[in-house]
Amino acid sequence: MAADIGAGSGGQGFGSCCEELQEAMSGEEFEPLITVGDDGVLYMSVGMVELEDEEPGMVDHPVFFCPFCGSGLQTPEDVKAKTGDEDDDDEEEEDESEDKQS
Ligand SMILES: [Zn+2]
Repeated sequence: MAADIGAGSGGQGFGSCCEELQEAMSGEEFEPLITVGDDGVLYMSVGMVELEDEEPGMVDHPVFFCPFCGSGLQTPEDVKAKTGDEDDDDEEEEDESEDKQS
């Protein structure tokens, strides 16, 4: 029997808290809306967005607690560490010295 959890990345540990989450992640008869991303973060699709000239896209949001049993799955810090903290001010400061007022 194929008991593999269909996340593909393996070893994330998501779905080990309860059968409901495991089934929701590994759905064989439906398209799972709870999936582990390439970055190892567990995401839940919260809606669809229609894009002009493109296929409709899913809007994902990191899941911090299991929606079924309430177990903590990951923390915002985990997610930030895995995705790269985009809110950090690592970006080069914009030089606003070019003041061309006249
Ligand atoms: Zn659970």
